[in-house]
Amino acid sequence: MKQYNMGTKALWAGEKDQLAFGATQVPVVHSVSFGYDDMDEWYEVAVGNKEGHIYGRNTNPTVEAFEEKLRILEGAEAATSFSTGMAAISNTLSTFLFPGDRVISIKDTYGGTNKIFTEFLPKQNIEVELCETGNHEAIEAALEKGCKVLYLETPTNPTVKITDIERMAKKGHEAGAIVIIDNTFATPVNQNPLALGVDLVIHSATKFLGGHADALGGIVCGPKELVEQIYHYREINGATLDPMAAYLLLRGMKTLKLRVERQNENAQRIAEYLKTVSWVDDVFYPGLEDHPGHDIAKEQMSGFGGMLSFAVRGGVETVRELLPKLQLANRAANLGSVETIVGPSRTTSHVECTPEERAAMGIPEGLIRYSAGIEDIEDLIHDLEQAFAQLPEELLTAK
Ligand SMILES: *Cc1c(COP(=O)(O)O)cnc(C)c1O
Repeated sequence: MKQYNMGTKALWAGEKDQLAFGATQVPVVHSVSFGYDDMDEWYEVAVGNKEGHIYGRNTNPTVEAFEEKLRILEGAEAATSFSTGMAAISNTLSTFLFPGDRVISIKDTYGGTNKIFTEFLPKQNIEVELCETGNHEAIEAALEKGCKVLYLETPTNPTVKITDIERMAKKGHEAGAIVIIDNTFATPVNQNPLALGVDLVIHSATKFLGGHADALGGIVCGPKELVEQIYHYREINGATLDPMAAYLLLRGMKTLKLRVERQNENAQRIAEYLKTVSWVDDVFYPGLEDHPGHDIAKEQMSGFGGMLSFAVRGGVETVRELLPKLQLANRAANLGSVETIVGPSRTTSHVECTPEERAAMGIPEGLIRYSAGIEDIEDLIHDLEQAFAQLPEELLTAK
């Protein structure tokens, strides 16, 4: 598969070994256990000397096809999957972090990840240092004290900040850390962190990988030696991906490249359009030349992604008026689907923060997260135009 390009791999990779009866598509294997008439063969499979399946919490053929496809797309040696993206993140961190250890990350990680850092890890006597997102010097200074894990995410929620992956991976390794990155926003189509020196790549498969907002899942890719430890944690602790979800994700991934390329284009066009709208104070998209992370993004990404955000004049009031007027957008706490999705940051990614905390993180109350779908761009822009046109004028002059 190595010789093929991303779009071809997205279709063909990982499926062949799981096909049965001449079927051209991977079956959904709903069996919890796998039986053996030969006691010696059963034993050999159970102890890992022979390929095969024993029990659904450990492995399953449909789930394996999903893991294999993403493993190949990320160019990794091994991959293991989870029931959700958060399970992938929490299980991975729990595999490597123990009382007395230290972990460094950034302030703008996904909301759930941030909760692990601020709520759960400190209770286990694990020291967490969260640096200003995009401030590479701050992360380097934190690394001087050493750490077990350096955990990154780029681009981030909701202001799509960018971290230099290659630079941070190198510094992280010099400090002796395992370097982990959440690649959910970029997808392997736009960004390949393993090639930039990162050890482990995590995805919420729920978002762009599945792409249809109909299945939850997570995955970790990296060297066998690390992934096997994470797999062992997961098989015992039980956050296993369901075969039906694995099938939906696998099916969604076939069009990953087509979808993401269209989402990249749509997001760029929407961001450029929003720059011209008098209701909009700020637009955050790494594909815009005035975005602070634009140059780094250009270096390390092959596309700027489908996620952007923008701040509207009149704050929460304008958000309340504007979003219900959009015809072509789900107002929901999700992203990366084929349909466009919008949501206020105060309701979605940063719902657990106070307005003051959000302000301190550079998140205005009028910030809207926009996940570009694959609709025709003219329709998306027209939809925004008609919604802005209906807003009461007095909000435009409000602070
Ligand atoms: C959604 C998301 C997660 C969590 O994934 P779930 O599948 O919802 O558990 C983690 N990281 C990022 C960047 C996300 O967008």
